Amino acid sequence: MDMITEIMNTFDGYFVDERGWKHYRVQGKTYDIRFHPMTLEWECNCLAYKFGKGKPCKHIKEVQSKPK
Ligand SMILES: [Zn+2]
Repeated sequence: MDMITEIMNTFDGYFVDERGWKHYRVQGKTYDIRFHPMTLEWECNCLAYKFGKGKPCKHIKEVQSKPK
């Protein structure tokens, strides 16, 4: 388990960085899915997101579909 995943498990599924991004994880993956509450932007560091011209990838959708 990497450190960021460990932090996330400790802080109830996400953590907020110094710039205000909320970072999420999809269970069993190491992708960094993040959401900014001010701009309502979602980002992911997977290839599907990177080449998807800003369209939400399946990881973003999975996080969005989870009950908060
Ligand atoms: Zn993704």
